Amino acid sequence: MTKEPLFLNSVFHEKIWGGGHLKAFGYQLPNEKVGEYWAISGHPHGVSTVINGEYAGWKLDKLYTEHRELFANSESPVFPLLTKILDANDWLSVQVHPDDAYAAEHEGELGKTECWYVISAEPGAEIIYGHTAKTREELSQMIHHGEWDKLLTKVPVKTGDFFYVPSGTMHAIGAGCLILETQQSSDTTYRVYDFDRRDKDGNLRELHLEKSIDVLTIPGDHLPDNHTKTALLDNAEITTLVEGEFFDIYKWLVTGSSYFEKTDNYVLCSVLSGEGNLRVDGKNYALEKGNHFILPTPVNDFYITALDPLEMIVSNPAVAKGEIVH
Ligand code: ZN
Repeated sequence: MTKEPLFLNSVFHEKIWGGGHLKAFGYQLPNEKVGEYWAISGHPHGVSTVINGEYAGWKLDKLYTEHRELFANSESPVFPLLTKILDANDWLSVQVHPDDAYAAEHEGELGKTECWYVISAEPGAEIIYGHTAKTREELSQMIHHGEWDKLLTKVPVKTGDFFYVPSGTMHAIGAGCLILETQQSSDTTYRVYDFDRRDKDGNLRELHLEKSIDVLTIPGDHLPDNHTKTALLDNAEITTLVEGEFFDIYKWLVTGSSYFEKTDNYVLCSVLSGEGNLRVDGKNYALEKGNHFILPTPVNDFYITALDPLEMIVSNPAVAKGEIVH
């Protein structure tokens, strides 16, 4: 098995709340309304393509299906994670995602637990996280009566914040947030409220009130504990942002030359800033902001050298044991 990283080229999605901020990563945007870049994706709504090495030109879903040895021989039938960058120029809809059991029954795909690393936030930026209803009856009443100010909890955000958003959490990202999202590979969203906005054809986007009321966590006022811990290596700081049921998420800050050893798992890496190189099995690969790559199972160790401090978000999927539908 060749020991090489898998660098990826991926798909942009236009959104009514999107914009042009992703150009800062060096991307050629198809328009000025880009809301999401599906940076590492095997999901059928936007699959990444490998751009280097032995598997250049392969789609990630096919590679995952045919070369499971690159992915820790995971028993998950689908590539389990999806990494996105979101450019919010307006509120995203207030929404909730189902868990795996509800999503398998109603949608035939994975549920969605997600998390957000705030790459940058404009002054005054906010998110919605959680709600105030104490019972499902109260939740249903407040939703049907549109008592949004009373129901929804707004939280201020700043650059560098991290939020873990388990399935069942009421949430929305607000204007002025540039976010790296790591989530289960699912595109199921139940929209609770869309600020009564109309798209360019004058249509309201569909809401999914009954499914939302089914899956929202009650009570919904738990803010996440953000107990991060940081380990210092030679020329690198590794901050653990979350160790969760579906993924572990780390922030790496590499300031010089640093040696890393890896387990048999595979890891997803996104470069948010800086410049440098990755050395694997005697070969060098240039790194710069906007790069996304996977270090597959056969890579057991590697060096990263920063010319300009490299800030990366790295995720480690929980290797699934076949509990997923399809
Ligand atoms: Zn969401």
